[in-house]
Amino acid sequence: MQRAIVVGGGLAGVRAVEALRSKGYEGALTLLSAERHRPYDRPPLSKAVLAGDSDDTTVDADWDALRCDLLLGERATGLRLDGPGAGGVVASTAGDLPFDGLVIATGAAPVTLPGDGRQHVLRTIDEARDLRARLTEGARIVIVGAGWIGAEVATTAARKGCAVTVVEAADTPLAGAIGPEVGALTAPWYAEAGVDLRTGVKVAAVEDGGLALAGSPDGGRIDADEVVVGIGVRPAVGWLEGSGLLLERGVVTDASFRAFAGDPVQDGAPGAVRPDVVAVGDCAAWWSGRYGRRLLVEHWDTALNAPEVAAATLLGQDAVYDAAPYFWSEQFGRMVQYAGSHAASERLVHRGDPAGGKWAVVWLTGDRLDAILTVDRPRDLVQARRVIAAGTPVDPEAIADPDVPVRQA
Ligand code: FAD
Repeated sequence: MQRAIVVGGGLAGVRAVEALRSKGYEGALTLLSAERHRPYDRPPLSKAVLAGDSDDTTVDADWDALRCDLLLGERATGLRLDGPGAGGVVASTAGDLPFDGLVIATGAAPVTLPGDGRQHVLRTIDEARDLRARLTEGARIVIVGAGWIGAEVATTAARKGCAVTVVEAADTPLAGAIGPEVGALTAPWYAEAGVDLRTGVKVAAVEDGGLALAGSPDGGRIDADEVVVGIGVRPAVGWLEGSGLLLERGVVTDASFRAFAGDPVQDGAPGAVRPDVVAVGDCAAWWSGRYGRRLLVEHWDTALNAPEVAAATLLGQDAVYDAAPYFWSEQFGRMVQYAGSHAASERLVHRGDPAGGKWAVVWLTGDRLDAILTVDRPRDLVQARRVIAAGTPVDPEAIADPDVPVRQA
């Protein structure tokens, strides 16, 4: 490989650049990114940056030592692939960029609501700074979506003295991410923080000065000075349409992050993979051998660690990513952490009383620990993560006792 291009300058992009160099790649290297900023960390945007405790989250990278051409403020618009393994050309606002190795790391973009009213999303540092300036005392802030981002924005807005309403279509916060039973345990946090949580409410559109609600015969409306929309993201893969790469919800890859061109022979089987094209981070739907299905993980830990494997793959080395997903969120003064995947779990076990403030839940299949969610119990998280990674059995009775460490049976 002599000419590598990384498209997307988020965490996965910069980590891919670093990994290529640290693994000995000596050829030309270009990072193309739509944002004009050098790669920066996003988790603080809804936390310290919004709160005004930080203004710069730039990733500490030595770009000179990395010998990487930075094309910032430039967008990839298309991809033309030559024969398998022969590279191709990234079409971009900076012109055509030929490559023989490509890392796709274009991340994800927020979903927005219909309507002409002003709506804020929170994905970039510019958006965080803009929203921060509007979180003034007494401002009526209406947040659509009681997910991770919605809860974090509500936390900061309430602390700043805003009048905060959170509107959620499901019956509980976080229903999609952790299920309604566990999501319901977080609902009281909103009221405690003085936030008005309204569940089961569907929004039709964002209008001037507020929200129009759906299915409301009297033309229901919620007035707002600012509307923040946190209803999820979609992988930013529009520029790959027509390239021949297999796109589902994200770039479909094998367990080594090699992109499939056309239909995969069967799930996970490296049929028509491109050895010269890898995808990683929020835009990649990768095959997990651990879970026997494709995962699209929109979390920082994957963007941090998976590029090592993607870079090794591009350099022709054997490498497979098999980590259990990990995620954290800081909301309403609590540290919420999650590890594993509970999508196919048999049962939920509570560990500690939610009324006590510090608690956890675990998802089990037989005596296998599939996933854990902890609230202000970081030690549980660390212990459980180890058990999940090793795949060792647990004692389903003992794990319900918060005084007993999470450990192998
Ligand atoms: P991104 O960070 O999205 O970077 C992709 C880059 O590619 C962007 O700069 C984009 O502009 C660029 N790009 C897109 N399309 C093109 C194109 N066509 N051409 C060129 N460039 C393009 N995760 C956690 O685990 N815990 C948290 O607490 C947490 N908090 C978060 C808070 C916020 C506000 C946000 C937004 C995310 C948070 N995350 C959190 C998620 C985490 O930040 C992401 O998983 C991570 O940023 C993904 O990195 P990435 O490099 O894959 O994608």
